[in-house]
Amino acid sequence: MTTRTASVQRHPDADRVPAALQLEGVSKHYGRSPGVVALELTIAAGELVTLIGPSGCGKSTTLRLAAGLDRPDAGIIRVAGEVVADGRRFVDPERRRVGLVFQDHALFPHLTVARNVEFGLDRLTRSERRVRTGDVLDLVQLSHLANRYPHELSGGEQQRVALARALAPRPAVVLLDEPFSSLDESLRAQVRRDTVATLRETGTTGVLVTHDQTEALSVGSRVIVMRNGVIEQADVPEKVFEQPATRFVASFMGDADFLPARVHRALLTCEIGIVSTVPGWANSDVDVDVVLRPHEVSLRPDPDASARVSAVEYQGAFVLHHVRLASGRTLRSWQPHTVRHPVGTAVAVSVAAGTTPTLLLGDQAITSPPPNGSLKRNQPTPSS
Ligand code: ADP
Repeated sequence: MTTRTASVQRHPDADRVPAALQLEGVSKHYGRSPGVVALELTIAAGELVTLIGPSGCGKSTTLRLAAGLDRPDAGIIRVAGEVVADGRRFVDPERRRVGLVFQDHALFPHLTVARNVEFGLDRLTRSERRVRTGDVLDLVQLSHLANRYPHELSGGEQQRVALARALAPRPAVVLLDEPFSSLDESLRAQVRRDTVATLRETGTTGVLVTHDQTEALSVGSRVIVMRNGVIEQADVPEKVFEQPATRFVASFMGDADFLPARVHRALLTCEIGIVSTVPGWANSDVDVDVVLRPHEVSLRPDPDASARVSAVEYQGAFVLHHVRLASGRTLRSWQPHTVRHPVGTAVAVSVAAGTTPTLLLGDQAITSPPPNGSLKRNQPTPSS
C-alpha cells in the first residue's frame, strides 16, 4: 500500500542554485501550544508557493521564523544556502535577504513613496539607492507617485509600494502574509495578478500565505497545506485538489463529501452504485471511503429513485444541489445555472464519467491496494 507523498517541483537550475529557503526539522512552541512542529520545507529559487491552512495552523509562525522575527526552538533555517538560524546562530531580520509584505502594507506614514522604498537600501550609495528605487517603482508602475505620501494612495497602490520596498534590496525570497486580504473584492483580483506578474517577471522566489483556497490554487506553482503545525501536503495545485493526500486536505481544499465504499475485484461501489473501475485492484476486497466533489456528482430526476433533493442554493454560474441518500448521508452536486431541481425531487445519483475519485483508508489517501489485498471495516485500519 502506498500513501500519497509530496513531490517537489524542481527549478531548472536546482542543481546549481541553492534553495531560496530551507527549513529542516524546525519547531517552535508557544508555551504548550505548537506553532510549528519538525517542519521540513524546501523552496527552490524562482518558485512561488502558497501556504494555506485553517487559522492557527502555523502559517504566520513559519513566515516569522523564516524572516527572523522569531527564533526556532529546534532545527535549521537556510536562506539562499546560508544558515540564518540553528542552535548557535541567529541572523537578524535585516541581514537575512528576506523581503516581507504584510496585509496592512506597514508603510511609514511620514515618508514619501520613494523614501519608503529606499528604506532598506542603506548599504548602497545615495546615487545607487536612487537608481534602484526608480527601477523598482517602474517595475510596479508607480514612478509617477514617487513623491506622494502613503495616505495619498489607494489600497492597491499602497500594496504595490510595499511590494516595491520588499523587492528593492534584491531579497532571496519574499514572504507575503495575506497581502490582498485588506483590499476590496473588485481590486483584489487585479492586485493579485499584478503582484504575481511582478514576482514572475523578476524571477523572485515567493511564499504567499492565504486563507483563500482559490487564491492558493491559482497563484502557487506549489501549494503547501498545513494543519496543527505540520505540513499535510505540499504539491502542485492539480494534485492537491484532484489527489488530496489526506481526508483533511480533501475537505479543506474545496467541497468534498465522503461515502463508505468497497473495492471488490477492481470495482469501486458505494451507496449510489458502481463509481468506477480501479485498475490493479483485481484481487482486492477493501472497505474504503470515497471522496466525491460536487462537480463529479450527476443528477437525473427519476420517480423511482430513493434519493431526494434536500436543499438548493443558487450561486450564479452554478446551482448547488444537496441530495439526501437513502442512508441519510448527503452528497452535493453542481448543476449548470439553468438547472434547478426543486426540493423533494426524486433523483438518480451517479458519478460523472471519467472521474477518478480519491480513496481513503482511515484518514489517508491510498493509490494501491493494501498488501494483504483484503481489509474490511471491522478490522483495525493502519495508521498510514
Ligand atoms: P496561522 O498564521 O496559521 O493562523 P499562527 O502561526 O499565527 O497560525 O499560530 C500557530 C499557533 O501558535 C496558534 O495556536 C497560535 O495561537 C500560536 N501562537 C502564535 N503566535 C503566538 C504568540 N506570540 N504567543 C502565543 N501563541 C502564539
